[in-house]
Amino acid sequence: MEPVDLLVTGEYLVRDPFSPALRNGAVTARDGVIVETGTAETLKRRYLPVVTLDRPAGLIIPGLINMHTHAPMILFRGLADDLPLKTWLEEHIFPAESRLTPELVSLGTELACAEMIRCGTTGFVDMYLFEDQVAGAVDRVGMRGWLGEGVFDFPTPAFPGGMEALRETERLMDKWRDHPRISITVDPHTPYTCSRELLEESCRIAAAKDALIVMHVSETDWEEAEIRKIHGASPAHYLDTIGILSSRFLAVHCVTLNNRDISLFAEKKVNVVHCPESNLKLGSGIAPVAEFLENGLSVGIGTDGAASNNDLDLMSEMDTCAKLAKGVGKDPTLVSAPEALAMTTSMAAEILHREDLGRLVPGAAADLAILDLHQVHMRPCYKPVSHIVYCARSGDVQDVVVHGRILMKDRVLTTIDEESLLEKLERAVDEIRM
Ligand SMILES: [Zn+2]
Repeated sequence: MEPVDLLVTGEYLVRDPFSPALRNGAVTARDGVIVETGTAETLKRRYLPVVTLDRPAGLIIPGLINMHTHAPMILFRGLADDLPLKTWLEEHIFPAESRLTPELVSLGTELACAEMIRCGTTGFVDMYLFEDQVAGAVDRVGMRGWLGEGVFDFPTPAFPGGMEALRETERLMDKWRDHPRISITVDPHTPYTCSRELLEESCRIAAAKDALIVMHVSETDWEEAEIRKIHGASPAHYLDTIGILSSRFLAVHCVTLNNRDISLFAEKKVNVVHCPESNLKLGSGIAPVAEFLENGLSVGIGTDGAASNNDLDLMSEMDTCAKLAKGVGKDPTLVSAPEALAMTTSMAAEILHREDLGRLVPGAAADLAILDLHQVHMRPCYKPVSHIVYCARSGDVQDVVVHGRILMKDRVLTTIDEESLLEKLERAVDEIRM
């Protein structure tokens, strides 16, 4: 018998969104990497695991990747709702953020990680301030992160200007370079909060370090009009004049992209991140996701920050994404359940240039979640992928494994002390309220 670190067995194993689920499936892992997948019977005969997660009513799925969030903004959850994006940002969020400290960012990230793990999320793409603290929390908690210091043309609580934020980006790239679960991205905030000079410098750093660029693009009609007024082009075409568009560019939101913009993004192989619930709640509109897919763009799903959603639940986000596209297009065949799941798993991994993520196959990272099928709202179960998108709730997530390490076992987090975290949070909230 071959020794392995971990054996996970379930009623079903979903190896990737487009393959049929395997009945009585199992996965073995060693050193954070999947050794083999197959039936539980075969793998139990072949391997001697240190730890076994036996889940006879479990649905094993690839760990979900939240492709856009601002984890520490969870501190402002429910602080201000039902307002237009610009008013919400300028009159409520920016003033609250002026009281941010590195300690608050660290605390907020841990809370966000706790919520994301509980939703079956194993990794996330984050843009915020004091991102070194976000990285520290991700390192401690054991999740995977693609993390970027937000770059703005004006002073933030973290830096007096954008160039300083970009210098910090380079410093973080050096500091976290060899970390197995953390990557640093370049994060100019938007085309209207960053000067051309900042965008050019972002572009230079990303090219030199072979890093991803994450940016909010074409989120609202206001942004569209503003960029057209100043630069005489849509945000997408304006960005093209800077030479920033490539397969390493993640354009977040893309609500107001027109057909010409979509063709440009397809030509440049730009990736799109769709945040349906945030766009709905802020009244920004609905991104044309079916058109993105039709034109061959890769699409990921993000929750956006918990201040504009107001949760970090990718399970509900997949459901919203698939149903919105069908409703808007008046066509139930648009954005199928496997496509919605791919946007949080295998397609998300492609966008991140990480072929070892998003699928449960030998050689891939052992990042997975197990859903509990022994629930009235999950039975009967004919098609597990359909259940993941249309039936499952975050409370159905029973176990989560990242890089072969169990971060949640039978709904108990193993790397976060939730009680003490919530206690610290209550004290911190008093500082924010002041
Ligand atoms: Zn955002």
